Amino acid sequence: MKKYIAEIAIVKPLHNLFDYEIPSDNAKVSPGMRVKIEFGKKIVNGFVMNIKENTELDQKRLKKILNVLDEKPCINKELLDLFLWVSDYYHAPIGQIIGLGTPSYLRNGKEMLNLNFNEIYRKRNMIRSDLELSNEQLAAIKKISCSINEYHCFLLDGITGSGKTEVYRKIQELVKKKDRQTLIIVPEKNLIPGLLQYFEDSNMNVLEYHSSLTPKKRFINWNLIQDCQADVIIGTRSSVFLKIPKLGLLIVDEEHDISLKNQSDAKYNARDIAIYRAKKKNIPIILGSATPSSETILNVLKRKYSQIKMRERVNKKKIPNLKIIDMTKTKNEILSEEVIEAIQDRLSKKEQVIIYLNRRGYSPLIYCKTCKWIPKCNQCGLNMTYHKRNNSLQCHHCCKNTQYQNKCIECNSDDISFIGEGTEKIEEVIKKEFLNSKIVRVDSDSTRKKGELQKIFEDIKNNKYDILIGTQMLSKGHHFPNVTLVAIMNIDQSLFSPRLKAVEQLAQQLIQVSGRSGRANKDGEVILQTAFPNNEDLLRLIKNGYENWINNLLEVRKNLNLPPYKNWGVIQAKARKVYDAEKFLLKIKERMKNRNEVEVYGPMPSNMQKKANFYNLNLIIQSQTKSKLNLVLKDCIPTIKNIPYQNRIKWTIDIDPIDYD
Ligand code: ADP
Ligand code: ZN
Ligand code: ZN
Repeated sequence: MKKYIAEIAIVKPLHNLFDYEIPSDNAKVSPGMRVKIEFGKKIVNGFVMNIKENTELDQKRLKKILNVLDEKPCINKELLDLFLWVSDYYHAPIGQIIGLGTPSYLRNGKEMLNLNFNEIYRKRNMIRSDLELSNEQLAAIKKISCSINEYHCFLLDGITGSGKTEVYRKIQELVKKKDRQTLIIVPEKNLIPGLLQYFEDSNMNVLEYHSSLTPKKRFINWNLIQDCQADVIIGTRSSVFLKIPKLGLLIVDEEHDISLKNQSDAKYNARDIAIYRAKKKNIPIILGSATPSSETILNVLKRKYSQIKMRERVNKKKIPNLKIIDMTKTKNEILSEEVIEAIQDRLSKKEQVIIYLNRRGYSPLIYCKTCKWIPKCNQCGLNMTYHKRNNSLQCHHCCKNTQYQNKCIECNSDDISFIGEGTEKIEEVIKKEFLNSKIVRVDSDSTRKKGELQKIFEDIKNNKYDILIGTQMLSKGHHFPNVTLVAIMNIDQSLFSPRLKAVEQLAQQLIQVSGRSGRANKDGEVILQTAFPNNEDLLRLIKNGYENWINNLLEVRKNLNLPPYKNWGVIQAKARKVYDAEKFLLKIKERMKNRNEVEVYGPMPSNMQKKANFYNLNLIIQSQTKSKLNLVLKDCIPTIKNIPYQNRIKWTIDIDPIDYD
């Protein structure tokens, strides 16, 4: 009798699929079903990826599937193919991708649920009043709706406050009329509640999907979504792997945001997977941003994407100008007199102020004045940040945390100097300067508890605070109508960072945070304090705006032959001994010697040379096309796996890297 073999993926960081025999009484096993198998000495769950008739495995070693958990596939063909493609493109273990792309209850073998949306979630039944759309919004809707039945990638390039969300809503309504579902991916979970409400207000069944949901809630939502009971799904990057049978529209909001890229394990970019998915499914995708990334603009230039510009705010207010304060010429060290005056002015008008500083903690550097001791992380070698909140010293790279002893560890002196400032110190200074105002600090230290951040955002909208001090948590996406002044404290470090994306990210941050000012009917103002008022990048950005600035950056990149004009893959090796990492990468480089489709640079130390006790070295592989890059890397994976001192090294491959430290 003929045997059938199932190729099975196991949720572990393993590149291979494993062959198991399908028992003859179980002929109905098909791809996408879960099964129990004996793997090594353990019984584990696996996902059937494929069925075939032959195996190269020795008959004696071929084991049978023990048990089939599903009657119908719980993962459809579209998703299985997506998992395989992602694994191939990012050279990530298939088991790891399935792990990232499925809820834990599903992986653990829980039975699929048969649920009814209305019994679990009460609909709010809000009827919203229709807005009068701006001409730019109308034009955008018209253009996108022409391609509602086919793949087309739109870049909705709209300044902050131009009403992009309303465009999403109108297109989603069209998609809903065709009985199709819409997936909206956002870079951070705290952007979800606002959007959720926006779409609930137009009477849609809306579900969220992100890591803060309990495993149970995640599974409930996953089931409802795959049963087509959600019209709109709003989630963070892992929601790009949701099973959405009637998917008809994809939206990636804040497409430039690097949080869309997973930085640990499989280094996938949810935006790029979404584009692939839209293409395969032949449906439209909208990338939204006020500050599109350089790679997306390049795709517009190559005519792969259609750019739709919205350059006016719906409230008709101008984007506030950025005013520069030269900190080398001010009396005060932390808050310039101009900023203090401007804050006073806004407070007297009962308006709100944002103080932006992208560094948490109190002081990024402390040292002993007597013996020059500096507390350093013993795992990374970098100096630790002082946090006053819990009197601790923290390494912001590996998160190591130690109690501060209130004195020098070396010489016992208590004459300690605190250099530079984080949000905690700014808060202290502001509190002293503006005694009678209500002040709130928003960063990941102040908002650890669940729901805390949403409460603060509500309170800000209800004018319970006058001055908001925060990191980029405050700057992204939020709509605070009464904020009319944004003061940006210190960005000087990013101006000179060696990272590939640093200056682009800085420009995006500056525009995004400026966009928080003057969003309702009052004019806004933005002030930037810097010790480098004549920096070319800053001046160009302020004078000519983001669009001009990013085009200029692309020119520079083109001349230097750098991404996004070239495709990069970075192989990173981590080892306790530099020598091991170097030898390992040299071996790979040797293997690529004759492949003239790629240029190889390195091994070289990464930006973070040492992190958590490991030395990090990179090999950069550069290629004209993504497919050539993919082939060359695939070719060298067997070499990598055969290197004998494997166990002393951790290696990763990062395709289209953003920040490879
Ligand atoms: P963006 O995402 O482009 O920065 P939003 O979509 O958040 O802007 O819109 C900003 C605000 O303007 C929202 O409160 C939204 O409800 C409102 N809005 C959008 N379109 C219009 C319109 N045509 N007329 C009046 N208000 C609008
Ligand atoms: Zn000392
Ligand atoms: Zn550290």
